[in-house]
Amino acid sequence: LDHYFTQIETHKDLNAFNEVFFDSAKKQAQEVQEKINQGTAGKLAGMVIGIKDNILYKDHSTTASSKMLEGFISPYSSTVAERLIAEDAIIIGRLNCDEFAMGGSNETSYYGPVKNAADPERVAGGSSGGSAVAVQADLCLSALGTDTGGSVRQPAAFCGCFGFKPTYGRISRYGVIAYASSFDQVGTLTSSVTDAALLLEVLAGADTHDSTVSRLPVPDYVSRLSDTGKKKIAVLKETLESEALDADIKGAILTAIDEFKAQGHTVEYVSFDLLDYLVPAYYVLTAAEASSNLSRYDGVHYGYRNLQAENLNSLYKKSRAEGFGDEVKRRIMLGTFVLSAGYYDAYYQKAQRVRRLIRDRIEVLFESYDVILTPVAPTPAFKIGENMQDPLVMYMADIFTVLASLSGIPAIAVPLGNNPEGLPLSLQLMAKHFEEDVLLSLAESFS
Ligand code: GLN
Repeated sequence: LDHYFTQIETHKDLNAFNEVFFDSAKKQAQEVQEKINQGTAGKLAGMVIGIKDNILYKDHSTTASSKMLEGFISPYSSTVAERLIAEDAIIIGRLNCDEFAMGGSNETSYYGPVKNAADPERVAGGSSGGSAVAVQADLCLSALGTDTGGSVRQPAAFCGCFGFKPTYGRISRYGVIAYASSFDQVGTLTSSVTDAALLLEVLAGADTHDSTVSRLPVPDYVSRLSDTGKKKIAVLKETLESEALDADIKGAILTAIDEFKAQGHTVEYVSFDLLDYLVPAYYVLTAAEASSNLSRYDGVHYGYRNLQAENLNSLYKKSRAEGFGDEVKRRIMLGTFVLSAGYYDAYYQKAQRVRRLIRDRIEVLFESYDVILTPVAPTPAFKIGENMQDPLVMYMADIFTVLASLSGIPAIAVPLGNNPEGLPLSLQLMAKHFEEDVLLSLAESFS
């Protein structure tokens, strides 16, 4: 813990932490040490972990990196925080992220951007940018993030760590601040596959507080890591042929494909012609869900309140106008529009149909293949400010990650070394619903 406290102080400029929990982490460390001495310590004893600042931890502040929740103290713990603590992980602090997890660069945070440790002029990725940089710069051993459309995988890719989003419904969302509830999923950022497997064992499984969590038994993921079964891998051809794809990323993925073949796996190129519909469907649906989820921030129940308001209506208006940042407001407006009476069928319902089509298509693909391979992001980490002028440019960068989110399948970002400038490169593997073990063992055999 002292090592990480020193590291955090040394790398303060990276802006990865919104708050370090000095007192509670020290107290936890003492308790864990006693348990270790008595031989009663849990599975994660000694794992120092940071949590994204949208995951509730009782009696600690949680803000979702928004002015709206400044000063909010969590009255209860999320299921994931409880499970970490029950297995003696030490929660060291809350990590910076895009405001309400809306963004792909960690630049929409009320607390300022997180800087990539490989090049501090570049973004960390988002929205779980603080979680990725904390692992990259050794500010904690591992971190929790949330992934709605790529927010664990893309920052992991930008920072050279493993970013793992399990199947929708594998991990409880209880106590995780909602962005788009039919997409949101807790994920892990780690420097090894073993840590990702260990964390999943602890976090996954039924929860009476969240009825969307699967009751399927939780396998022993760590012991399955050594499974060397040969897999059939489908590379989505259009993703590698995309003009937007950076040449170094493409080169690294082609080398990786050769390596998979050399290991005895079958790799085939297949066509996926729905690529152009992924980003539009994702943004219509997530904005709709966000506009509904964020209606609870009314200046009365939680967080920020304008004190000059003359009546209830002006209290709502002023509190929301001042409490939310621009990107969050853009999504609320877009979401309200696509849900409104005259446009519901044309946008929201249509996007839901597209989502169904994508899911069906993926299921057909999985009848012939075990794993799907694509890039994580079209480019390595870009410069801070570079993509902030045009939201569409930022949204389009999610093209490869939203497929797993729309279809609810598990996906992992696997690091592939660095480009000549020292920026991390990465590839993405996706598997069938609840086949996290397949993904993890394949990633392990490769790393
Ligand atoms: N960049 C995507 C978005 O802004 C993904 C965010 C996320 O997964 N939380 O919606």
